[in-house]
Amino acid sequence: MHPDLAESYLLALRFFMVVFLESFFQGLGVSATLNPYTSPFGEVEGFYLAVALFGLRYLRFSYSESCEGDVVTFPIIYSEEFLQHDTGRLHPEKAGRLTASVEALRQAAFAEQLSWQTPTAWQEREVLPWVLRVHRQPYVEAVRRLAEAGGGRIDSDTFVSSQSYEVALLAVSAWLDGVDQVLRSGEPAFVLARPPGHHALPEIGMGFCIFANAAVAALYALSQPGIQRVAILDWDVHHGNGTQEIVWDMPQIAYVSTHQAPFYPGTGQAEERGAHNNILNLPMASGSTLAEYQPAFEQKILPFLREFSPDLLIVSAGFDANRDDPLASLALQPSDYGLFTELCLGLTRKIVFGLEGGYDFRALAQSVVAVVESCLQPIKQRV
Ligand SMILES: [Zn+2]
Repeated sequence: MHPDLAESYLLALRFFMVVFLESFFQGLGVSATLNPYTSPFGEVEGFYLAVALFGLRYLRFSYSESCEGDVVTFPIIYSEEFLQHDTGRLHPEKAGRLTASVEALRQAAFAEQLSWQTPTAWQEREVLPWVLRVHRQPYVEAVRRLAEAGGGRIDSDTFVSSQSYEVALLAVSAWLDGVDQVLRSGEPAFVLARPPGHHALPEIGMGFCIFANAAVAALYALSQPGIQRVAILDWDVHHGNGTQEIVWDMPQIAYVSTHQAPFYPGTGQAEERGAHNNILNLPMASGSTLAEYQPAFEQKILPFLREFSPDLLIVSAGFDANRDDPLASLALQPSDYGLFTELCLGLTRKIVFGLEGGYDFRALAQSVVAVVESCLQPIKQRV
């Protein structure tokens, strides 16, 4: 007999035993034995029956546990504290991006399957030393002091509010939790955090980014047992100049980016390949759609990643290449991100998705839903 079938028979047998025996004992009024004043049985019989009832409850508990093992959940690492990074009402990178995404996920058909996880407080794990592996100490200190002084800007479009230092560290912690989660389960997870990070350079933040979440997460992952190579796939519409600069001469980290070009921040030419050929840049012309993206994935991105053979894939998941995005002029649909996700899952299920850009709330939220839906899809088919 096939082991799965045998397991099903066993579960069915256990279930019917539990139902039959519980009904039998309830018929005898056994539940009353727990109260000696109303028990129709003597003290000794009552004790044995109580033990039997406890055993049955345990049996039923272990039965439902084994069933719940089959219910697939998808982890979303999120905290309302991320809303406290205040960039001002008119800034495109604002809290509403997260609340719109959370709302869409809660209304999705698969909402019951989401497991919402609060990121570890940054003080409770070694977040700062990891940030300092990537960023210069005077910059990190300057962000802390700026926040402490009430806030200000670190470049023309990157703001630090009084809470931003702590929120940015919590965002890094969430990305590190994402790494832990995926390495533990071998299944994907989504880090719904802000501020984003892929423009942040070692010595200064820029382009709405304070700390380089993806690069820090990649370095952290490499410190974990058995992790030799980590790849970062950045499908944000902007080139992740910060991530690229940080990993440029790191042979254990590959960086792949699709981005609109020419466009902000101006880096990401196809000729930029990294010190170890560990970087792949795919500039996309304004107006590009899935018709341009799909061949790029199938003919360049996936073969490059397959060759690199990462132990973990980190996706810098920005959704500003959507047609409705106000900041760029590519023309993807939210569902296209579901396809990109499926293509990546064909390579590995060990994927940490972390939010970067995406400034049309509706398109952003629909894209996040599409990514999560794709992650749940193959598992549903498998069960
Ligand atoms: Zn972007």
